[in-house]
Amino acid sequence: MGRVRKNTYNLRGFKRSFIFILIAAILVGTGSVLAWEQVTRRLSQDARESITSAGRELAENFNYLLEAEFQILSSISVSIESPAILEHKHRLVTYLDRQNKRNLFDTTGYQAPDGTAWFSNGQTRQWFLSPAEVATVYKQGKYISGRRIDPFDKGDILVFAIPLQEGEAQGVVFATHSASFYRQTLTANLWQGNGVGMILDNKGDIVLSAPKSSFGNIFDMAADFSFDGGFSADKIKQDMSSGAKGLSGYALREEHRFASYYPLQYNNWYAFAVLPTAFVAEKALGLMVMAWLICFSVIAVLVICIVFMLRMQHKNGRALYTMAFVDALTQADNLNAFHFKYAETVDNFKKQGLPFALVVVNINRFKAVNDIYGLEEGDKILKQVAQALQEGLKEGELFCRSSADEFLLLLACPGRTELALRLDSVAQRAGRFCQEDGKYMPLSLTCGVYVVDEDAPFYILVDRAKLALSSARQHAGAVYAFYDEEFRRRIVAEKHIESHMEDALQNGEFKLYLQPKCDFKTGKIKSAEALVRWEQPGKGLVPPDHFIPIFEKNGFILKLDWFMLQQTLGLLQSWKAQGLQAVPVGINFSRLHLDDPSFVDELARMADNYRVDHRLLEAELTESVVFGNTAIMKRFVDNLHAKGFSVAMDDFGSGYSSLNVLKNLEFDCVKLDKEFLMREEGSARMRAIISGLVRMIKSLGGSIVAEGVETKEQAQFLQSIGCDLAQGYFFYRPLPPEEFTKLLSPAKKRRRKAG
Ligand code: C2E
Ligand code: CA
Ligand code: CA
Repeated sequence: MGRVRKNTYNLRGFKRSFIFILIAAILVGTGSVLAWEQVTRRLSQDARESITSAGRELAENFNYLLEAEFQILSSISVSIESPAILEHKHRLVTYLDRQNKRNLFDTTGYQAPDGTAWFSNGQTRQWFLSPAEVATVYKQGKYISGRRIDPFDKGDILVFAIPLQEGEAQGVVFATHSASFYRQTLTANLWQGNGVGMILDNKGDIVLSAPKSSFGNIFDMAADFSFDGGFSADKIKQDMSSGAKGLSGYALREEHRFASYYPLQYNNWYAFAVLPTAFVAEKALGLMVMAWLICFSVIAVLVICIVFMLRMQHKNGRALYTMAFVDALTQADNLNAFHFKYAETVDNFKKQGLPFALVVVNINRFKAVNDIYGLEEGDKILKQVAQALQEGLKEGELFCRSSADEFLLLLACPGRTELALRLDSVAQRAGRFCQEDGKYMPLSLTCGVYVVDEDAPFYILVDRAKLALSSARQHAGAVYAFYDEEFRRRIVAEKHIESHMEDALQNGEFKLYLQPKCDFKTGKIKSAEALVRWEQPGKGLVPPDHFIPIFEKNGFILKLDWFMLQQTLGLLQSWKAQGLQAVPVGINFSRLHLDDPSFVDELARMADNYRVDHRLLEAELTESVVFGNTAIMKRFVDNLHAKGFSVAMDDFGSGYSSLNVLKNLEFDCVKLDKEFLMREEGSARMRAIISGLVRMIKSLGGSIVAEGVETKEQAQFLQSIGCDLAQGYFFYRPLPPEEFTKLLSPAKKRRRKAG
């Protein structure tokens, strides 16, 4: 069941983490989509901006280049003007050739007003620049031709021309430059070759284009374009005829592009830059992939962290579980775990309609096991017993080691007899189990059983089973005891006694009774024993067996004994006052007085207060007190003797009788225990033992009182073996003081009469 609970706990942990991961994934996913949109929008914006600026740059670069060509031409023209060069054509050609080489033109030349053109390569042509072109040169000051064929190598060229500084009559200076040279400047830096740069004239004819030279009219081509909203070929045409710049998007054969157009300074030409949108998307995709990679790395790190945390949690959880719920020695559940699982187990029993019982199992004399075999072996035995008990469990029952040698079980209880039989066999099994290797002494278990019949708090239920256990342990050889009605009544009565004892003492409910100790032959009263009775209102006389053991446990017996002493002293005082023949009275003193070093002094002080002769008081001390406390006891007895009190050993023969102790302690009297007398009444063996004992006690010099003499035969036998006095129902029952006093009176009177 423990495992099931742990698994549920893990499952819950797993579910929680799963939900956490899911939420994290959703957040990261949504974030990524938003980021994707943002990035695409930004990129498209960027693309528009950059293509616009690319168009502008293209135009500016081209303007600058053309301007530079004209600068060179004008510096050449300054030199040609001089008649020294112009009038000597061979000098002119030499000069042109030198300039051409320095400036890297294809050719440099001079065309005279009559149409003759001298080239730097020494060649001449008629009307290389047509009269119309020459007119334009004069008119504009600077002229660039469209693309035309080189007269010498048949390549594409552009022709630049300016009038000679001196004016129209002087002709024009010109230079030719291959178109491919300009194409290079068109392709340079246009998005790593992904873009296309073009120079158009304002009718849309392509003057130059890169990277491949293509020809034709851009507006003719635009018939196949499908423009983005708000744009058309006409709009561009309009812009170009009015010298405006612009940016448009269009698709051609499924491919979307951006085109930017920007006017040049010369010839109403336009710089035209085109970039496929896919290139932008590609860049976006790259960025997106990077973003996704980052997201996934974050998620991966997150998952790793969670898994790590879970493992730690699981490990710590297991360690905590072990610390809190597992018994370190037997690896079985401990009391905490038992308590934890109790409610659920009980619910299951209730659902099945099965009665159930809490059972406390204790190993008898386990302390002795430890003492004899050592702690290590003791631990082994505990483990074996735990195993035996666990193996005896049925489905749905609970077990734990609750303390050192105590175990707790929650068992089904179909009936008392069945459960009792089961406990018997389990106890036997556990006992046998430990003896299997023949190494250990026989082991016995005792069980306290509470068949749960009330929904009380757990620890109260356990207490009940423990009460049953302690009751079972009071009966030697008992394997189990049930906490039942009788038991409950006893506990209630005990509680009742404890809550009323103080008031009872105040209210005088405790009464002194006296039982005579008599001469066997004459029956004459020689002394007496003071015995307490509790006269409870409405309940009558309660015998001391019902409350003395409780008072012994809670210490109230000390108060009661002093009270009984005072009552006795008062009586003795009154006998004296009445002129009666007082007899010594034995008073029972609890063993608890032994701890009080001033007890004997206090006793003497009180006797003196009542002016009672110390010889009239006899302290009755039970034999069990003596055992094991010989030194303390000896001092106690000696002190009592020193103050003139007599001392009797009570209940001799009931327990650990030792003649040695008797000899050392010098009791004045030994009282033979009534149980001891009754146990094997009449048997020859017992008679032999008793007469032997009596003989030995006699040899030590004490007198002997036989308790519990109930029959004439007993009296005769006890007298015959040498007992001195008899105390028992055969002679007198314990009597109230008035009745006892009456018994004293006649003797006194008789003696006085006789005297
Ligand atoms: P105990 O000192 O052995 O007292 C003798 C008990 O034997 C008395 O029981 C008495 O009534 C009973 N008894 C006397 N003759 C016979 C007989 O022929 N047959 C049977 N069956 N019993 C007989 P009780 O008065 O019930 O007292 C029980 C025990 O309570 C006493 O045993 C004594 O140990 C204790 N006790 C009584 N009064 C006091 C007291 O004031 N102080 C203390 N500390 N203990 C007391
Ligand atoms: Ca006694
Ligand atoms: Ca006794």
